[in-house]
Amino acid sequence: MESLQSKEYKKEFVTQFPGDDSGDVKPRQTPGVVFYSKAAPTPVKAPKLLAWSEELAQELRIQKPATQAEIDILGGNLVTETMYPYAACYAGHQFGNWAGQLGDGRAITLGEWPAPDGKTYELQLKGAGPTAYSRRADGRAVLRSSVREYLMSEAMHYLGIPTTRALSLVSTGDQVMRDMFYNGNPEFEPGAIVMRVAPSFLRFGSFEMPAARQEIDNLRQLVDWTITNYYPHIQGEDRVIVWFREVVDRTAHLMVEWMRVGFVHGVMNTDNMSILGLTIDYGPFSFVDNYDTQFTPNTTDLPGRRYAFGQQPGIGQWNLGCLASALAPLFPNTEQLVAELEAYETKFMQKYRAMLGNKLGLDAVLEDDVHLLTQLETMLATLQPDMTIFYQLLMTLPEGEQDQAAVVSHFQESLYAELLPKERDMLHDFITAYKARLADNSISKEASQERMQQANPRFILRNYLLSQAIDDLTKGDDQLFNDLQEAIKEPYSNKHDRFFVKRPDWASHKPGSSMLSCSS
Ligand code: AMP
Ligand code: MG
Repeated sequence: MESLQSKEYKKEFVTQFPGDDSGDVKPRQTPGVVFYSKAAPTPVKAPKLLAWSEELAQELRIQKPATQAEIDILGGNLVTETMYPYAACYAGHQFGNWAGQLGDGRAITLGEWPAPDGKTYELQLKGAGPTAYSRRADGRAVLRSSVREYLMSEAMHYLGIPTTRALSLVSTGDQVMRDMFYNGNPEFEPGAIVMRVAPSFLRFGSFEMPAARQEIDNLRQLVDWTITNYYPHIQGEDRVIVWFREVVDRTAHLMVEWMRVGFVHGVMNTDNMSILGLTIDYGPFSFVDNYDTQFTPNTTDLPGRRYAFGQQPGIGQWNLGCLASALAPLFPNTEQLVAELEAYETKFMQKYRAMLGNKLGLDAVLEDDVHLLTQLETMLATLQPDMTIFYQLLMTLPEGEQDQAAVVSHFQESLYAELLPKERDMLHDFITAYKARLADNSISKEASQERMQQANPRFILRNYLLSQAIDDLTKGDDQLFNDLQEAIKEPYSNKHDRFFVKRPDWASHKPGSSMLSCSS
């Protein structure tokens, strides 16, 4: 194990690319700078370690902080000699509109940590103070949003979904002013800092930046760097289009995985889309409780519901379209890019159907099964049962024919409202068709059940649980937070069944339990 303090960090990115080394953290436009601006973290009053991801630390061989100096690193109060703290410059499309230069307004990469697997990992502080890209904001994060990112990024990892990770959560001892719902009622909240970890935090927006400034050599260099470092298996003359194809694949995979567990990101702007296909920038995310394809957890998204649960796959493609536009100057014409972009739909659909097949425990999804899948989705969208509980109950369906009353009673635990006669019919019809299909399964019942178990989480980190844990923590009680930190590690087991209940009524209305604003 190695200490955060004595480690020799790498700084390949800032060595390879030109940037603004002035260290000036006054928010500003940075013409001529498309990659990064040096930004030392602004010290905080009293950094205290609240949580530490021991499994991640073990993987990377990072020693748990034993000294205040090491905690100071996690709180932004100490930068070691081999580190080079910087904020990345990037642009993006926000809510469908070009937003120009954005950049890391409250994230600072300290350095690259060489790990035993031969790869390097960016260690990045979120909430460590202003950078050149902070625009009108303070560069800080509150305990509330930091607990959410810390727990949720680790929860996604254990669900088996590509994501950035979180190594530590530190309280700063400072107070931060926030208007949680942008309704003119700002309040002081405790500040916190998360250390995030990923091979790279490059986003689609990182490529849109040099493209927008028409710095084509810089764009080409960034693409080359990305392929060489993070897609080393791609070689040859056509490597750029092959790479774009893989970004399309990874994005399609990510969307399927979000849909599998009911995850709603909430702010799928192109600056929040990882070029590695990771879930990145946790903000007003939420799992769906009731299966509502129109659900968005983001109050800023309410008018158009652009980023609602059911919109995500389409937005994934839209965002890839922005990436393709940014890459266009590297090609003689747009033909190949357009073809790869259009292939997204077929790729997504194939993966999506296979995923639903696994959730249902089918041997395979054939053309004949498409009707059953559509029936399932229409039924879920209409009845809106609790998604997680519904699929768990599907795994314990008794064999043989069941009348309507028996079927409805089996799923009772997952329902949020009494079913209308038409809805009872839909449920019974689906279950009857499903049982008939299961009878034709070419795999054993055990194999089918195993598939379902691997595809259907039993524990999800529901928004109201997070909100409760945060309330408790603010009062000095860390019991629920600790319990959740354990539960997220075993989402497919029944060991944490005290949480296996649908969202309580009160949580639908309580601020912060259901919806949040963008950058709180
Ligand atoms: P997000 O939607 O949270 O990914 O943020 C969009 C942009 O706003 C990014 O460029 C962030 O770095 C920036 N941002 C969000 N919150 C803050 C903050 N408190 N201080 C500075 N910049 C911020
Ligand atoms: Mg962001």
